[in-house]
Amino acid sequence: MPITNGQEYIASLRNRNLKVYLFGKLVKEPVDHPMIRPSINAVAETYDLANDDPSIASAESSLSGKRVNRFLHIAENVTDVVNQNKMQRKLGQLTGTCFQRCVGMDALNSLYSTTFEIDEKYHTPYHERLKEFIKKIQEENHVIGGAMTDVKGDRSLSPSQQEDPDLFVHITKRDEKGVYVTGAKAHQTGCINSHWILVMPTMRLREEDKNYAIVGAVPADAEGITYIYGRQSCDTRSMEEGDLDSGNSKYSGQEAMIIFNNTFIPNELVFMDGEYDYAAMLIERFTCYHRRSYVCKTGLGDVLIGAAASISDYNGVANASHIKDKLVEMTHLNETIFGTGVASSFQSYKTKAGNYQNDDMLANVCKHNVTRFPYEISRLAQDIAGGLVVTMPSEKDFRSPETGPLLEKYLKGRKGVSIENRVRVLRLIENMTLGRNAVGYLTESMHGAGSPQAQRIQIARQMQLEYKMKLARKLANIPETEAEELAKEHSDYFDRIFGLKKES
Ligand SMILES: Cc1cc2nc3c(=O)[nH]c(=O)nc-3n(C[C@H](O)[C@H](O)[C@H](O)COP(=O)(O)OP(=O)(O)OC[C@H]3O[C@@H](n4cnc5c(N)ncnc54)[C@H](O)[C@@H]3O)c2cc1C
Ligand code: SF4
Repeated sequence: MPITNGQEYIASLRNRNLKVYLFGKLVKEPVDHPMIRPSINAVAETYDLANDDPSIASAESSLSGKRVNRFLHIAENVTDVVNQNKMQRKLGQLTGTCFQRCVGMDALNSLYSTTFEIDEKYHTPYHERLKEFIKKIQEENHVIGGAMTDVKGDRSLSPSQQEDPDLFVHITKRDEKGVYVTGAKAHQTGCINSHWILVMPTMRLREEDKNYAIVGAVPADAEGITYIYGRQSCDTRSMEEGDLDSGNSKYSGQEAMIIFNNTFIPNELVFMDGEYDYAAMLIERFTCYHRRSYVCKTGLGDVLIGAAASISDYNGVANASHIKDKLVEMTHLNETIFGTGVASSFQSYKTKAGNYQNDDMLANVCKHNVTRFPYEISRLAQDIAGGLVVTMPSEKDFRSPETGPLLEKYLKGRKGVSIENRVRVLRLIENMTLGRNAVGYLTESMHGAGSPQAQRIQIARQMQLEYKMKLARKLANIPETEAEELAKEHSDYFDRIFGLKKES
């Protein structure tokens, strides 16, 4: 039965055979665990938005001939890619956290074009298999977790050079029905809330790494998979009585480590097997999509700007000129992220497979902004919030007959503002800048889709310095510059800007 809304999605996660460890113990039913449930609620929003606003959160798929959730849609035109960003901003606004479904969306789209090109060279059956898989998950409306990042051991060594071969996921054996993989993936967003895990290589590979060039889909509860839940700052507040101290009691992100121990992937779900020379293409296309998917953080930025404006109002300083200016600065930074991300999507072009891929330069600039601006926005939010954001007593103190009245008296803000509301908005700022959802707003912004240096490498690759030097030298009347040569040198980036290149 296809999943049609958030409640059905939550029900679909029950009674599975997942082996999830949290605090050293197996979790009986993740859906009912108070620390895990907020992350499930965040994914449920991706289903409900598809019903509430189908124009941005769903799409007509020519693969299945049906209207499908946009997270499972292969982008068929530029508008589809742009709408991914609109959906991500909206969901960020609705949840104030990571809603976990974009890694799967970006993985499917990058695999769509990469499998086509692998087949073209090696006459393999991957593209057709992938299309069948996509049709099936579109039909069932499933969540796909994208498992790329290996635990990696010594970062200066390639997969096959590691002392322990399991530090990167690799094929351990094969039979006529499929392959078996062992290894571990770190920081896996929403994996326990997924129906499927899509395993992919994490880095450019060489011939000696052939066994590591494996892409395949496995059900999240397949035999041989163990999950170890990642702790988030202040996460156990979700297990306390009341909802005040958690700041955002309904929603959170989720990361866990996935350990594969000879996990079986049947042939029909294998989409790369040994084509090491295509690992880089897959990773570059995935990170290109995913780095502009980080406009999700502008939805969180909208919430934090709103929280900062609210606390300034509650504190009676909303009209101070420096407060207004700080809110303008926060908005400027937030919209700069959105501007670069959505521009990257608007510059999408058609791949050989027929789907659409966004612009790499602008995607990397977007993600690089994301590694910095949310930290500055958070700094300004804490500035506006005042020190109480980190010194507030607990909900129990507010509810206690002894301390409650004292706090009511001494934590007053502007006349007419309830103290509880003041505390609630301060807790939300704490949640997003220091607490549970700072994982999503800050450190995920830093490292998710690649640490800052990864973007600088991509920007450097495409910045076309020689061409820019020639532009300068020509205008400066430096004789060595030849106008003819200048006209010849193009990059994909400028070709797309000037409309000279529309397809890959
Ligand atoms: C919250 C969160 C969610 C995530 N979700 C997912 C997910 O759903 N799926 C997924 O596949 N991945 C996910 N990631 C993983 C993310 O892509 C990685 O964190 C990122 O690629 C960095 O890898 P790392 O964490 O192992 O850090 P490291 O690789 O250890 O990097 C640490 C530092 O070392 C530097 N460094 C690393 N290697 C080298 C080298 N060879 N030479 C020089 N410098 C080096 C880096 O630039 C960085 O400054 C997530 C990460 C986070 C934090
Ligand atoms: S960090 Fe953003 S882009 Fe990545 S899965 Fe979470 S919400 Fe989506």
